Parts: sequence; C-alpha cells; structure tokens
Amino acid sequence: MTDTQRPAAQSGLGEIDRSGARVTVDDKAMINCRADVNQLLPLKYHWAWEKYLAGCNNHWMPTEVSMQADIALWKSPDGLTDDERRAIKRNLGFFATSESLVANNVVLAVYRHLTNPECRQYLLRQAFEEAVHTHTFQYICESLGLDEGELFNMYREVPSITDKAAWALNYTQHLEDPSFTTGTPEKDQAFLRDLVAFYVVFEGMWFYTGFAQILSLGRRNKMVGIAEQYQYILRDESIHLNFGIDAINQIKIENPHLWSEEFQQEVRVMLGEACELEVAYGRDTMPRGLLGLNAELCEQYMRFITNRRCAQLGLAPVFGPTENPFPWMSEMMDLKKEKNFFETRVIEYQNGGALEWD
Ligand code: MN
Ligand code: FE
Repeated sequence: MTDTQRPAAQSGLGEIDRSGARVTVDDKAMINCRADVNQLLPLKYHWAWEKYLAGCNNHWMPTEVSMQADIALWKSPDGLTDDERRAIKRNLGFFATSESLVANNVVLAVYRHLTNPECRQYLLRQAFEEAVHTHTFQYICESLGLDEGELFNMYREVPSITDKAAWALNYTQHLEDPSFTTGTPEKDQAFLRDLVAFYVVFEGMWFYTGFAQILSLGRRNKMVGIAEQYQYILRDESIHLNFGIDAINQIKIENPHLWSEEFQQEVRVMLGEACELEVAYGRDTMPRGLLGLNAELCEQYMRFITNRRCAQLGLAPVFGPTENPFPWMSEMMDLKKEKNFFETRVIEYQNGGALEWD
C-alpha cells in the first residue's frame, strides 16, 4: 500500500475494493489496519463492543433531573458560602469546555486513527455522551442563571484551568492536521500520547477531583440536582476511561516496540505533570477549603488516582503508597447502591449488563 492510498483505506471512504478477499478476525488491528473498516463483523475486540452496549444501557438526559432545590439554594443569599460558590463556579467552568475539548479530540483526532470498526462504534457512542455532558452544563448555566460568558471563558481566563487545557491540547494539535497519519514508530507514539492525555489524564484524572468536589457537596445535601447529574457523568466517564485504557493496552500488545522503557518513562512523567497541574487547580479553586474537602485532601486523592492509572497501564507508580482519602467515591460510582440518595428516575434505563467501575 502506498502512502497516498493509506489514509483513504483507513478512513473507510476510499475506493471499494471489488476483488478483495473477505475480512477475517486476524486481519483486524487497532492502528494502521488495512482491513475494511466498514465491516463491523466479525468482531475482534469484544471489550469495545461490550462498552458500546454498556454506554447505551446508561442513557440519560440532563433535563430529566429537577433543578428546583439547586436554584433555591443558589439564589438564597446565605445558602452557600463564598468559598463554596467559587469552587462550584470554577468546577462548572472547567467541565463546561472540557467536555467539548474531549469530544473534539474523539471526533477529529482519535476516530481517524483508530482503524477498527468496533472501536469506532464505541467512539460514536462516546461522542454522543460528550454532547449530553456539554448539554448538562448549558442546562445548569440556564437553570441557575449563571453568566455564560464567565463560565465558558474560564478555560481561557482562569490560569489554573487554562494550564490544564493547554497541556492536553499539546498532544492533539498535530493529530488533527489533515496530513498526519500513523504508520511510523514516532507517529504511532504521538497517537498513544494523545490517548494518554485525553483518556487517562483528562477523563481519568482531572474529571475525578471535579466529581469529588460536587459529590461531596451533594453528600451534605447541597446542589443535589447537579450532584445527581455528576453521578451520571461519572458513570459515563468511568467507561470512557476504561475504553481508553483497554485501547492503549491492546495497541501495546499489537505493537510492543512502541512501549519501550523510554516511552514508559515518558508516560509516567506525563502523569506526574498532570497530577501537579491538578494540585495547582485544587489550591486555586479551594484556597480555604470546604466542609469535608480541601486542597490537601484533593492532592492526596490525585496522587492515589495517578498511581492507580499507572497500574492500569502496567507502569510503575509515580508516587509512594497513597491511601484513598475519599473512599465514599467508590460508592458514588455504583448508582444502584445509592438508590435512595438522589432521585433515580434515570436508573430505569439501566437494563442489567454488569459494569466494572473504576
Ligand atoms: Mn464527558
Ligand atoms: Fe468522556
């Protein structure tokens, strides 16, 4: 295959090969694959298909959650402290544009280079879920009467948020260049870095302190509508994260030369930097701490999460042994156990399918 044919074959939009052989499972591969990407069957990666089904089983819409209690609390002059309002606004501001950044990376960078139809099937589902998440922040903004310009510009105007977005964008910018194609070790590693930056760091580390902040408020009966929405987002994100981890690990198995000692060390450095950026964000959003939550505990939580992500990728931990300061977060990830905690109308959509939470 020549270089000019490769992008068309990988996109699935090239000339139809009328005389080609039928696709077999062995022809399929995560990246740089020549097998027809328009043929979902025969399935090779059952883990990707399972995640597609799990995502569909978790369908929800933000407008199904009542915002009445949140609106009353937000509008009452002494319902929340100034520190709580600051933390909530910065949290919403971080997520409001992050969901779009993640969606754009999925659609414009990851989709083009993952040359496998069952993985693409999952990405299409994920892309819709990111749209639902962005919708959530539009709905919250409108319900609470927040300043939309302030919220949606925080990723440009609040340095601790800008620093995180800019760090991640470094890894996607060249991938969405139309002339970028995988196929050399350098370029395949650039693609792996993008998967690490968005799936492991953005969705798998940075979102988790955000979840802890809002769910901690929800546990104290504050902003319960937003907290319920965050539980649904967390449920979705834990599948996004696990898809990303499985994708990276599968690419490793198929391309062991990419996962060199040097590259592993590079990924550990990335996770360490991401942890530092999050610690700075925690200090900035909670300068004096909130009831049950402060920047120190969030730092410890981020170190715990960083080590956990290392283990999932088969890497040595970045930090020494660290305990989870928020053991209640794992309960929050299992919505079924929390049936009576928040309103659970949406649970009816969940029709079985045992999911593994992280
Ligand atoms: Mn999301
Ligand atoms: Fe996501």
